[in-house]
Amino acid sequence: MNCYECRKESGVATSAEAVCQRCGAAVCADHLRVEKQELHQQVGLGKRTQELPARRMLCTFCDGAERSG
Ligand SMILES: [Zn+2]
Ligand SMILES: [Zn+2]
Repeated sequence: MNCYECRKESGVATSAEAVCQRCGAAVCADHLRVEKQELHQQVGLGKRTQELPARRMLCTFCDGAERSG
């Protein structure tokens, strides 16, 4: 699978690293944004959360869309 953004921007076929969880587009490392959702929580002082860290992978397009609105 090739990166959708690279193909759209410049017609280049770049091997995709991951798939955007929002739009489903395959994207390369340059067009991938990885968010860890546990970043907002304080860690330490013996307090542990039961939740596993969540990871979201978005393409640059969806990442920008979420930040703008
Ligand atoms: Zn790309
Ligand atoms: Zn996307």
